[in-house]
Amino acid sequence: MDEERSPLRQLNEKPTELEPAEFMLSDCQDEGEFRRPLPGKEQSAGQSSLRQPAKKRLLDQSDDKAPPNKRKMVSASVVGFKPRPPVMSQRPAVNPVYKTSAATVAGGPSRGAMKKPVAATSKPAPSGVGAASRRPGWDLKGKMSDMQMKVSSYQEQVRNTKTQNRELREEAERARRELESLREEHSALLNKMSDVQCKVTSYQEQIQTISQENQGLRERGDRAQRELEGLTLEHSALLNKMRSIGIVISCSVSTLRVLEKRNDLDTAAVRGAALSDIHVCFCRAYEMENQELSSLKRTLEMDLSRERALSAQRLQEVRELTQSNAEQTDKLHQGEMERRALHNTLLELKGNIRVFCRVRPLLDGGQQQSSFEIQPQDKTIVLVKTEESHIGKEKELHKYPFKFDHVFPPQCSQQQVFSEISLLVQSALDGYNVCSFAYGQTGSGKTYTMEGPDVLAGEEMGMIPRAVQQIFEAACKLREQGWEYQFTASFLEIYNETIRDLLVSNKTPKKMDYEIKRASPTADIRVTNLKYIPVSSEEEVLVLIKLAKQNRSTARTQVNDVSSRSHSVFQLRIEGKNAARDVSCNSILSLVDLAGSERVQKSQSTGDRLKEMKSINASLTNLGLVFSALASKDGFVPYRNCKLTYLLQDCLGGNSKTLMFVNISPEIESFSESLNSLRFASKVNECVIGTATANRK
Ligand code: ADP
Ligand code: MG
Repeated sequence: MDEERSPLRQLNEKPTELEPAEFMLSDCQDEGEFRRPLPGKEQSAGQSSLRQPAKKRLLDQSDDKAPPNKRKMVSASVVGFKPRPPVMSQRPAVNPVYKTSAATVAGGPSRGAMKKPVAATSKPAPSGVGAASRRPGWDLKGKMSDMQMKVSSYQEQVRNTKTQNRELREEAERARRELESLREEHSALLNKMSDVQCKVTSYQEQIQTISQENQGLRERGDRAQRELEGLTLEHSALLNKMRSIGIVISCSVSTLRVLEKRNDLDTAAVRGAALSDIHVCFCRAYEMENQELSSLKRTLEMDLSRERALSAQRLQEVRELTQSNAEQTDKLHQGEMERRALHNTLLELKGNIRVFCRVRPLLDGGQQQSSFEIQPQDKTIVLVKTEESHIGKEKELHKYPFKFDHVFPPQCSQQQVFSEISLLVQSALDGYNVCSFAYGQTGSGKTYTMEGPDVLAGEEMGMIPRAVQQIFEAACKLREQGWEYQFTASFLEIYNETIRDLLVSNKTPKKMDYEIKRASPTADIRVTNLKYIPVSSEEEVLVLIKLAKQNRSTARTQVNDVSSRSHSVFQLRIEGKNAARDVSCNSILSLVDLAGSERVQKSQSTGDRLKEMKSINASLTNLGLVFSALASKDGFVPYRNCKLTYLLQDCLGGNSKTLMFVNISPEIESFSESLNSLRFASKVNECVIGTATANRK
């Protein structure tokens, strides 16, 4: 067959049909994460029951049994563990681990499809069976007893399974209740923190008001002091005046006495009386003035001491408020750290790799809708198809059930989708690496989900602008608690395993060498010559996203007029520092719009387009292998096999949270591509990556 296979297609085919590399992969199918159901079983209409991934269930169980304070450790040790099916021991030695990873993705079954219990196939036959085959035909009694033994052994198995089943159900219920209580605790803490925040704000306002009052009082006191000084000066000037008048009077009196002696009595008597009157008047005026001044001085002194007492009281209040403000700020910081820890526990309980399925609405002029049933509450999507039976006579109904962490029906808005990932975005600010992918065939709504339509505003804004908006708003709030954040944005695309900087205009003729490198063992992975632009506001980032949109390479295929044939990777590096508390954190938020996952045959591509397709399929397959290797805790994770995983390796390990959107086109002609995408996604969903730790210092 000339047909180029999609990653999934490659993965799902039998070893004999695969190319050499694929053969190695499916060879080790039993060892890896993805098991293949028995052919025909997964498509049976009667087997629509959906199962949680085995590892996720294991995680829940271990969480339940562990004491609350040990829970994180326990989950860390159990996460990613998957019991080997007994059949393994019967298989021959396998290829090296990295090769097995390939097989795990390649040969794995769809998650929703029913798996035949491995234990049932590998259980040794009851001991009597061998004997039965040797019994002569006439030994009916012997045969009967063999049969009875068999029956009782089966009954025993059924009883055991039922007990296990009941225990598992109880444990799942306990885990659910615990998750619920954690959620409540989380929201209670958030409420408490917002109360404390309100208190702090009101204290700060009070302090400001009191400081202003205090300032006013101080000014009034100063004014009164100045007035008092003026009056004291006036008083002493008047005293001097009175004294000089007294001197004049005593001179006049002595003159009078001299005149009396000269017998000029009449004139002297008249002048003496006049001078005496003047003297009396002056004395009275002086006394009155003196009294007034003294009382004014007393009043002013009283005012001044009152103002001083008030000012001291206010100062004391300010001191107390400042103290309590510092205490509240401490509490707020502690609350913030607690919230981060709790938030992380919540996300870990939900799983560090989560898969959301989003079905695009029918576009104008769309064909008949493919039949699928979505139950958002149950997080399930079932693809249903009527096909001719093998003998070609009757129509058979085939059901393909899948279960994810969330299923968004076509009518879901961008806001509804974002509300489910906003917890992850918050995690990026808290210091955890976060990576979100959009996977699906061309035209299924990947770019719409990640970026939104051309106009980056309003209801239709995609996940990237919304995430950026949330990050800047949250960083602004955290500034009140002493956190300072610095952001650096980069935007690139990987086309045919070649990196292009989307923040450099296409018109620039210069060809650059872009190399993925880690500057030092502790440094993060960077691309040489790539533009890393410091940004400080949402608007600045939106300008960059628009520029990248214009520069993104597009080519015409038969599937979609403007199909994107490259992976685009938007990264926001976040560095937070709280100098007062001497804590800092850094993380990378990566939002990836993957290239279309459709098979070559459908797009009927040749030449360059065929090369593109091969490169896309190889990198998508490798992405699956990386998830699988991480989940099975392989010593070797094939990050370097393609540029995409090499670039994102810091965001795909244990210290990260990953979200994959699987985008589905609803048209009937996209049925098989949808089925492939859902199968790939459900394999990813079975992976559980180890407990994340914040990049905090
Ligand atoms: P992809 O990136 O997977 O190739 P696009 O995001 O370009 O697909 O989507 C193809 C078309 O479908 C675009 O015209 C887009 O606007 C539209 N579309 C996709 N998802 C939705 C949705 N949820 N609601 C409305 N229109 C959508
Ligand atoms: Mg696109």
